[in-house]
Amino acid sequence: MSEPDAGSDVAGMRTTAVRDGDGWRINGTKTYITNAVYGNMTIVAARTSTENRYGITMFLVPAGTEGFSVAKKLDKHGWRCSDTAELVFDNVWVADDQVLGTVDRGFYETMRNFQNERMVLVGMGVGAAQVALDQTLEHVQHRPAFGGHLWDLGAIRQRLAMRQAELDAVRASMYHAAWIGDVGEDNVKEMSGVKAYGAEVINNIMYDCVQFHGGMGYMRETPVERMSRDARILPIGGGATEVMLEEVAKRSVIA
Ligand SMILES: Cc1cc2nc3c(=O)[nH]c(=O)nc-3n(C[C@H](O)[C@H](O)[C@H](O)COP(=O)(O)OP(=O)(O)OC[C@H]3O[C@@H](n4cnc5c(N)ncnc54)[C@H](O)[C@@H]3O)c2cc1C
Repeated sequence: MSEPDAGSDVAGMRTTAVRDGDGWRINGTKTYITNAVYGNMTIVAARTSTENRYGITMFLVPAGTEGFSVAKKLDKHGWRCSDTAELVFDNVWVADDQVLGTVDRGFYETMRNFQNERMVLVGMGVGAAQVALDQTLEHVQHRPAFGGHLWDLGAIRQRLAMRQAELDAVRASMYHAAWIGDVGEDNVKEMSGVKAYGAEVINNIMYDCVQFHGGMGYMRETPVERMSRDARILPIGGGATEVMLEEVAKRSVIA
């Protein structure tokens, strides 16, 4: 979906797919696409309506299709174990049976799928934050300081206790939002809320975990150093925090 000039504003995308014989002709550029370098099948969103801003369709484009190329592998702050790239579609022709879903309904299909993506992102972050907290507890309880251990310092033990409580709240809220979706109800408000709040809590935890590891927390050999960089994507990807809060606000207006 994402393009150089359209990220949060998904419907602002410029990539087009125009009818051509028994198929479609796709032109445009996508960026920040996960697994794009090594993926053998790409699902691309393209504008198929000139009148309707939301008239977007999803297409399946296999690697090696003429005109489809990886323009650039991007160098990232975190998530370095997954590749991210810029893709170019230069007069790419795809057959009708490469349409995924319904013509002109791709925007709505994508929005529905976003709830799942947001849940996965929060779940991944909760797991990582729990590991970071556990490793930090282990560290401060063994790290000698001021005649005792770091754990004996009230500022440290109380902060870690609060971070654990916040993480437990995010975990429970995430299961709650997932359950609402599971019983077939609209969970956009709850899932957007937990995505916004959870991403903030998880990043605060990572910050403290690096902090309480001291200099070791800043070293590449320490897992929390990597986890803190990996967590930074959470308030940006899959819907930025501010966009999530708008989704909550829109659904909070009392008629
Ligand atoms: C590692 C990584 C992997 C990604 N993988 C994929 C992928 O596989 N497929 C894909 O399609 N995209 C992917 N993305 C793109 C990602 O979804 C976008 O980066 C994200 O949606 C934000 O869009 P943008 O970068 O264009 O920022 P912009 O839309 O330019 O927004 C910049 C900032 O402005 C603020 N902002 C934006 N809108 C509002 C608003 N309405 N109100 C208030 N503030 C606002 C937010 O703080 C936001 O972070 C990936 C990005 C990264 C970094």
